[in-house]
Amino acid sequence: MISRETIDLVFETARVEEVIGEFVTLKKSGSSYKGLSPFVDEKSPSFMVSPVKGIWKDFSTGKGGNAISFLMEHEHYSYPEAIRYLADKYNIVIEETEQTNEQKEAADERESMYLVSKYAQDYFHKTMLNTQKGKAIGLSYFKERGFTSEMIETFQLGYCLDDWTAFTDTALKNGYDLQYLESTGLTIVKEGGKQFDRFKGRVMFPIHSMSGRVLGFGGRILTNDKKAAKYLNSPESDIYHKSRILYGLYQAKKTISKEDNCYLVEGYTDVISMYQKGITNVVASSGTALTPDQIRLVKRLTPNMTVLFDGDAAGLRASVRGIDLILEQGMNVKVVTFPDGDDPDSFSKKKSTEELKEYLENNQQDFISFKVSLLLEEAKDDPIKKAGLIRDIVMSISKIPDSIKQEVYIQECSRLMDISETVLFNELAQMLDKHARDAERKPSSTRPKMTIASSANKSSKSSSGGDMPDDAAFNEMMMAQEVGMNTSKGKTSGQKGTTPKTINTLDLYEREIIKILLLYGNHEVTFVDWVEDHDKRGKVIMVKEEYTNTVAHELYLQLQDDEIEFTNPLFQKIYKEITYQISEKEKLALERLTSHENQEIAQEVTNILMDDEHYILSDWESKEIEVTQKTDVLQKLVQDAILNLRRVLIELKVKELMQEVSVEEKRLEALQDVMSYTQLKTLLFEKLHRVL
Ligand code: ATP
Ligand code: MN
Repeated sequence: MISRETIDLVFETARVEEVIGEFVTLKKSGSSYKGLSPFVDEKSPSFMVSPVKGIWKDFSTGKGGNAISFLMEHEHYSYPEAIRYLADKYNIVIEETEQTNEQKEAADERESMYLVSKYAQDYFHKTMLNTQKGKAIGLSYFKERGFTSEMIETFQLGYCLDDWTAFTDTALKNGYDLQYLESTGLTIVKEGGKQFDRFKGRVMFPIHSMSGRVLGFGGRILTNDKKAAKYLNSPESDIYHKSRILYGLYQAKKTISKEDNCYLVEGYTDVISMYQKGITNVVASSGTALTPDQIRLVKRLTPNMTVLFDGDAAGLRASVRGIDLILEQGMNVKVVTFPDGDDPDSFSKKKSTEELKEYLENNQQDFISFKVSLLLEEAKDDPIKKAGLIRDIVMSISKIPDSIKQEVYIQECSRLMDISETVLFNELAQMLDKHARDAERKPSSTRPKMTIASSANKSSKSSSGGDMPDDAAFNEMMMAQEVGMNTSKGKTSGQKGTTPKTINTLDLYEREIIKILLLYGNHEVTFVDWVEDHDKRGKVIMVKEEYTNTVAHELYLQLQDDEIEFTNPLFQKIYKEITYQISEKEKLALERLTSHENQEIAQEVTNILMDDEHYILSDWESKEIEVTQKTDVLQKLVQDAILNLRRVLIELKVKELMQEVSVEEKRLEALQDVMSYTQLKTLLFEKLHRVL
């Protein structure tokens, strides 16, 4: 673990504009910088960096954060990877916190395995480019395959000499431990102690992690030896888990997220050939069936996957399983097949970049039409087979976690197969029910029980059941379920597509208070309050009282007075951080929040802080926002925010009580409560007006 001190030092040292400046061309604009979004293709800048606040915001995607989160978004680093990158950039020595001896040993061991793998990659690469045999055998093989020097560099391809111990000997001579040569599988040690190179005589494809570390290798044989495997891979080890690796992901990750799509192919040569033709968002599962872990790697970058299948029918049938797996992970799947006898490697060799792009574009099918076209041919005149096919397709649909998508696909399937939606929905309901039972969950608690009387409709030839009451009820249920799943709070941050249908006013006012705290928390302000007093004759009067306080303290006291708690869990967390800071240090340190290890907090704080920045992007960019102007009216801003929050809370309380009023035995008490709350509300309004 990297120590807190190191992390703090990294945050203090790293300049957000310097870090981002290495990846995005930034232009000064007032006190900020702006540039073109690195996440989408755009013509006018929507990307802002605020050196003062130490944060960035991409207005076209809604992403934002600090230097670390930029590296995580753009380079797809993990948190520690980003810290290490910055420590390296700013020459900060990383201090590790105490680890147990076991942890230390395991970490050291993995580190040593990474080092020896990196060494091997460089060795194989140099051997191929610089030695006589390397050039004559390895390099000429790749050249014959049509790979350019640029691809050989990008993928760090190499060659392992056809010599029993050439690599192992050199590695040992250079101080690498036999232990790690063996545990990475680069060297095979026989029982008598005899050592030899696993990849002897093969051209080498290094396999990288998402952040570019060498994890293992694939090696292709160059002879026609029928007994030896054409491709040999590194064995499973502490650093090489083939089920969690996608070949090419390191090279492809940027375009995958930029194009918002990932092409999936079979192996090394497919990846490289496509990449060479300019399709750089391509990865391979390398000889194994696709796993959920691999799909999740892609899902970090995009929800869209296009699977490219070879032309032969047998292969197609086998690979269809993989599609369900991708659907199950909640991803959108498209499929492209190649003409018989072609794979992506051979096909892209024959075509120009334009032709290839065009082919992919024109031949992509959604998974339903793919399945239909694949299976319909043989099932055409056989009703039993056709029924099986339909069940097969609905089974795929049932794997999709998103019920709205399910519905869309059911409609599509109904159209393609000329079957009524009602029948399909019924089939789907049964499958969902079964999934629920299989998962040993009570069906009623997870999915609504769906019993749709469809036997009457089954015989009807109508292919669209959309206007049947049963379908409507079903749809409503599906919708309710979907909405229920999405009512997660804390998503007020204007990200596309996540806006809830009804805007929660409470959320708005809570956010307003957080915003005031973040922007003006440390400002000293003179506040006015009206307190009850008695005049000389003993009559009750309201007296104006003035006092100074920081905005943060004032808000804290006010909220505490009323025992108000934030209902939005994210705001609750942010507020807790803020109150912790002001109680510890008397002052609010924004960078502690924008660099918070909880990414959710860091992200939301950034969003709130960058709210105002947006209009610097517009034409009148030279006009700076006058913060001082706002400061003049801070007192009113604070009071209003609190009063508004109280008002909404009271309204909600009254609404709640009104429901109790309808219950006979609670009526009286509830009515009394309603009255006192209404009085309170009136009082609040009076106060609000006095302040005004
Ligand atoms: P050829 O030159 O005979 O066509 P190839 O090197 O193109 O051979 P194929 O047999 O065509 O290999 O294999 C198709 C794809 O699958 C290639 O991209 C290859 O790299 C990959 N592949 C084959 N076997 C494995 C394996 N064991 N591990 C990883 N990838 C493999
Ligand atoms: Mn091939």
